[in-house]
Amino acid sequence: MPSITAATDPAALGAALRRYFGFDHFRPGQEEALRTLIGGAHTLVVMPTGAGKSLIYQVAAMLLPGAALVVSPLLALMKDQVDSLTRRGLPATYINSMIAGSEQRRRLTDLTAGKVKIVLVAPERLRSRAFRDALRAARISLLVVDEAHCVSEWGHDFRPDYLHIADVWRELGQPLTLALTATATVQVQDEIVRLLGLPNAQRLVTGFNRPNLLFEVFTAVNQAAKLELLRDFLTDTEGPGIIYAGTRSNAEEVATFAQEVVDLPAAYYHAGLDMGARARLQDAFMAGDISLIVATNAFGMGIDRPDVRFVLHYGIPSTLEAYYQEAGRAGRDGLPARACLLYSPKDRSLQEWLIDSNTPTRTDLQKVHRYLAQTPQAAFEDIEAATGLPQVKARIAVEALEAAGIMGRGLSSTTGAEFTVKPLRDSDLDAIVGRVGARQAYRRSLLAKMVEYAETSRCRRRVILDYFGDTGPADALLCCDNDLARIAGAASAPPAKTDAERAALTTLQVVKGLRFSLGRDKLAKFLTASKSEAVARYQRHPAFGALVGWRRRDIAALIDDLVKSGYLKAVGSELPTLLLTPKGEAALQAGAAISLQPSQALKPPRPAVGNGLASTLDETRELAAAGLTPDEIASRRNLAVGTIYSHLAQLIGRGIVSLDDVVAPGVQAQVRAAVEQVGSTQYLAPIKALLPDIDYGIIRCVVNADNPAPPAAPAPSVVSAAPDADVLAALKAWRRDQAQVENVPPYVIFHDATLERIAAARPQTREELLAVHGVGPRKMERYGADVLRLVALRGTAPDSVAAFLARPHPRPLPGPWLAGWALDFHSHYDGDEHSRGAIGELVFRYKYTGEVDLAGRLADAWASLLAERRELPRADIIIPIPPSLARASDPVSTLAVALGERLGVPVLRGALVKTRPTRPQKEMTSLAQKRANVAGAFALRDDIRGKRVLLVDDLYDSGATLQEAARVLARGRPASLVVLTLTKTIHSDA
Ligand code: ADP
Ligand code: MG
Repeated sequence: MPSITAATDPAALGAALRRYFGFDHFRPGQEEALRTLIGGAHTLVVMPTGAGKSLIYQVAAMLLPGAALVVSPLLALMKDQVDSLTRRGLPATYINSMIAGSEQRRRLTDLTAGKVKIVLVAPERLRSRAFRDALRAARISLLVVDEAHCVSEWGHDFRPDYLHIADVWRELGQPLTLALTATATVQVQDEIVRLLGLPNAQRLVTGFNRPNLLFEVFTAVNQAAKLELLRDFLTDTEGPGIIYAGTRSNAEEVATFAQEVVDLPAAYYHAGLDMGARARLQDAFMAGDISLIVATNAFGMGIDRPDVRFVLHYGIPSTLEAYYQEAGRAGRDGLPARACLLYSPKDRSLQEWLIDSNTPTRTDLQKVHRYLAQTPQAAFEDIEAATGLPQVKARIAVEALEAAGIMGRGLSSTTGAEFTVKPLRDSDLDAIVGRVGARQAYRRSLLAKMVEYAETSRCRRRVILDYFGDTGPADALLCCDNDLARIAGAASAPPAKTDAERAALTTLQVVKGLRFSLGRDKLAKFLTASKSEAVARYQRHPAFGALVGWRRRDIAALIDDLVKSGYLKAVGSELPTLLLTPKGEAALQAGAAISLQPSQALKPPRPAVGNGLASTLDETRELAAAGLTPDEIASRRNLAVGTIYSHLAQLIGRGIVSLDDVVAPGVQAQVRAAVEQVGSTQYLAPIKALLPDIDYGIIRCVVNADNPAPPAAPAPSVVSAAPDADVLAALKAWRRDQAQVENVPPYVIFHDATLERIAAARPQTREELLAVHGVGPRKMERYGADVLRLVALRGTAPDSVAAFLARPHPRPLPGPWLAGWALDFHSHYDGDEHSRGAIGELVFRYKYTGEVDLAGRLADAWASLLAERRELPRADIIIPIPPSLARASDPVSTLAVALGERLGVPVLRGALVKTRPTRPQKEMTSLAQKRANVAGAFALRDDIRGKRVLLVDDLYDSGATLQEAARVLARGRPASLVVLTLTKTIHSDA
């Protein structure tokens, strides 16, 4: 093996750098790599993009005796790279399929003649026997494998030709080898070394730390919570930013949210947009005309706007590597920038689903094999159309067959690729299925790493560096949320003072102390000592009931707030459970006042009348509520009846229990008569003297009912006990009407103060309403139902997020028309379930449950969409898309007719007809199949020349049908074409 010890001397390397390249200093990692390499060791260098990996082999080539053979898949970059070397006077060349045959041979001759020091070749060259023989005649002293991760079958960029490199290496006499990559997890590094056959290669992994990025993860329990986090983030973050969304529909939706709710001009970008639109958006973003872009992972290659101040992920990507690559687009200028992830444990299911649905089955593999055996010249588009496999799945199937040597992509001299296909034996198939399964398991393990990053309490930067195997220090200005929380914890936070603040700390304390973890609902039950089955087994736990007396729903809301503000985190996708975060840990240690969202009116427990009394009262109350008589309660609880009556008297006094439930009307009348006779309720003894047969407790019950207790203590103002303005206004309006009906002044119905208390407490049950001071049993009887209904209606006072989620958002439809709109997305998929939007629900009922009357409502929605978009031309005619199967009822043309009536525009039902039957598009599984299904299937039967046409359909999915129809209509030369559908789904959701 060559060893040029002189050159390992730093001075000699530095001199070569200056002499050949004119650079003053090595960049981090370059010199170390050169020393290892020139010292004679095969070397694997993993450094991020732009770190200067090429320079390593360029300097090495100049110092080593023979030539360097560089295998690189980036054909487009070869010429530039070689040009820049020859400009510096360094003898370099490249050989790939873009070069004429004669020129290729000339360059090879130069190489064997020792006239070049660096030759770049495309990996498919390595397949050519002639080329390999020619190489043997040359003196290759360094083999460079650029983008070395392409050797990994499971990577994102697998190149089957890379598998030939090991053979070439042996044929060349095992020259010194340098493998370079920017993206390799520790596992892929192992694989590279193994597949290239370089067992004792030195590894150098460096440069992954980006000290100016702050890493943060915010956990959201559901979509609404995510949008709230997003709103807060966007409201207090400045500067240009990129939001990455997991699906195309999410990208569109989040952009709309940013516009409508945060009032930020945001654009969306995904692979469903046409090339022109994508290029325009990219340019606009680079030029600074757009400063917020919401995109799928289709956005980013070649995006190097330096001043991106944040990259926010609206869901987890499938690997930490992809995450880091995307997040790394923030702060290219070296100034502080944020890399933020909004994480919902459900995200995981969506990614798992994607992995699974991209995994070809045994039958899929057979289908692809069979098809290619018959049609070796097929393009991917053809494979998709013929097999119905979606793009990614088809590609994975082909790769798997190639990797197993069953298929090879030969170079066809005429049109690109041609497959050579060997027979597929059962044993081969078994092996391939096994490998595909292993790949799936591997993808899942990568996903698990991503989830680990999202859920960790460790330093997030360290987690990332470890993932790549970069052992350098995780230094940073501001490191990550976890570290910041640990630092902030040491700083002085104001101590918790209010009941709510203490309840928050108690919650954290309990979560920390539990040796098992509970989900939100169970934790709320646990804390409030619920008698529910769900937590029965924990009753003896010392922390059980740590917040007894608080309303369970308040505690559940408190837990949500603690998750939202990062003190607790939810982990695990099936039934997420709660854990303390470093921020929570720090707050707990400092006993800090946690400032929570003022969204919840947290009601502290009713003040206890003495220790233990609160819960004994509660028990009596629960039994009474369950319908037991005082006698039954007494025997059940093993207490004197008098004691139970005295409990009940207190409960009645506070309006919690109704007198009528406890004391018979006749007895009530006797007591009231005695009270009247005595003339005062200050002392009970004189009353009792008149009622020898009636227990003190019973007398107390009646007296308390007629003289309700004042609030025991002013409710400590906690998180926010402010009345909900919306609810209050609704209550006052109702009271005004009611007062008119009864012909009494409004305060007789309820005092202002009572209404305010109701509006603050927003009771949901009769019991909760009774607990509001000023609402006694009689008022409960009369008005309870009305009040509860009002509160329930307004109680979910639509905040900006809820309102956003509730209303439909028309979606633009891309295609060859003047304009196209859908009323809304059809449904949302959150990794767990599809939920239909309001319009989606109507469409479903209209089409599948026979509610044909809904055509009118849907046509109304169309008509108002058109009315709101004044820029659209008025239509002269409406044309419905004909149904795929001839059937009795045709929902689309019924809709068209309803719309026509509303607009006063004629419907041309027979204008567009089918020339042949087609299958319903939803049976087609790949885009290519959908296109093929409708290609040439329409004909135009009417004269539409010069007409303004409105083309309508029920659903926009891939757009294949509408695009085909539009093409046919265009031949009739209409003046304009506008397309309307009810809903939109996005076919390939990535
Ligand atoms: P990578 O392959 O790691 O993504 P490149 O090899 O393409 O990165 O290098 C990126 C840029 O950095 C190139 O323009 C290169 O000329 C430049 N570069 C590399 N090393 C140095 C250095 N030591 N000093 C100055 N510029 C350098
Ligand atoms: Mg490179």
